[in-house]
Amino acid sequence: MSFYKNGNFVDLCRGPHVANTKDVGVFKLLRVAGAYWRGNEKNPQMQRLYGVAFATQAELDQHLERLEQAKLRDHRRLGKELDIYTVSPLVGAGLPLFTPRGTILRDIFAQYSNQLRQNYGFEKVWTPHITKTNLYETSGHWAKFGDELFLVTSQETDDKMALKPMNCPHHTQIYASKPRSYRDLPVRYLETTTDYRDEKTGELGGLNRVRSLTQDDSHVFCRSDQIGAEINNLLASARELYGSIKMPLRVRLSYRDDSDGYLGDKALWASAQAQLKAAVMTNEIEYFEQDGEAAFYGPKIDFMATDAIGREHQVATIQLDFVQPGRFGLEYTDNEGNAQVPVMIHCALLGSIERFMSVLIEHTAGWFPFWSAPEQVRVLTINDTVLDYVSDIRTVLGGLVLMKPVKYNELRYTVDDRNESLGKKIREATNFKIPVQIIVGPQDRDAREVSIRSQTGEEKIALDELAQYLTSL
Ligand SMILES: [Zn+2]
Repeated sequence: MSFYKNGNFVDLCRGPHVANTKDVGVFKLLRVAGAYWRGNEKNPQMQRLYGVAFATQAELDQHLERLEQAKLRDHRRLGKELDIYTVSPLVGAGLPLFTPRGTILRDIFAQYSNQLRQNYGFEKVWTPHITKTNLYETSGHWAKFGDELFLVTSQETDDKMALKPMNCPHHTQIYASKPRSYRDLPVRYLETTTDYRDEKTGELGGLNRVRSLTQDDSHVFCRSDQIGAEINNLLASARELYGSIKMPLRVRLSYRDDSDGYLGDKALWASAQAQLKAAVMTNEIEYFEQDGEAAFYGPKIDFMATDAIGREHQVATIQLDFVQPGRFGLEYTDNEGNAQVPVMIHCALLGSIERFMSVLIEHTAGWFPFWSAPEQVRVLTINDTVLDYVSDIRTVLGGLVLMKPVKYNELRYTVDDRNESLGKKIREATNFKIPVQIIVGPQDRDAREVSIRSQTGEEKIALDELAQYLTSL
């Protein structure tokens, strides 16, 4: 905070300030707006000028280019143009509805995130969307987040119920459903499910902030000596996931400081923080450390992903938890027969899938990687004389199951054999940002070839090689 002073005029302003306008550097005015002196319409009207300034022209140009790019990539605009999601005043603010295309996109990323963790022994669980509020009183969430809960009333019982705002307390109850020995640990649960939070309606817009948020959530219950190995698995999964969409990652290691606000044994904190750091270094992920940024119940790793126009987004989190297992009385029997409390590790790789989708749309500008595109291939006919040949092409496409990076996905393709000009068909396919367009004309038919049109250019491929071409993308 600083003050700007000019004659007897003093203004409170965040700054920074320069002594003279000649020190501003290069600047550009972005817009003007009318304003009344002191916000009162009876006072004289003034012009308010909005602009940006940088030390060099190159920095200014870069900033303006980025603003332009951000506008073109706005996920609210592209979400509509590419038919990914919609909103309805009848359903409500912050409750986006996903179309068939958007749902494919959501599902395939959730499937990928699950498969990555299933490689490391995570098992799927399922929990209901409503629960007694007692659960959150025990977990401690009620005291902290009570006003964010959607409440539900039963017409049968007096139970106070709520829509779940998170899944951790539920997963503790699955862990608690039977006795555990040190040999059973780690226990790893995975659930992609929607949570509900009563965000203020003024803060809702697009997919960034929603009241129904889907998490690719997971919880590990482990011994304190297993923390490092578990973190290692999660880091490797996150690195692979964000690598697949070409988003570089860096992480923040959030530690405790010396204040008293933290719960849990100090030695456990020290050991856990050392294990987090070691795992990050083993995975060669860029990191920085911050004391005092941990949650009161444990240290964490926050992932920041950089998008195609250089903006950084907070995505996944790995959160250690020394408190919740104790609140729920979770135990395991150690090798000497004594009861011990497990450590809990919370992790969602995508974070909120809705928010992830907004980042993905803006990062790719709607050109989703081939494997994740809702419609991967569209066949465009030049005229009706090729329809028999198109059925040969259908036979190839219909039999394709893709295995990389997500396993067991049938190729998603359509055929546009309408009686329209090829130019119009190409325009429509390109507007939908379909990664592979297969153009079929009489010459292609006679040569048993197809013409492939993609972002990298055009090429001819023999029909016999089409399957191999598509599986290698
Ligand atoms: Zn959790």
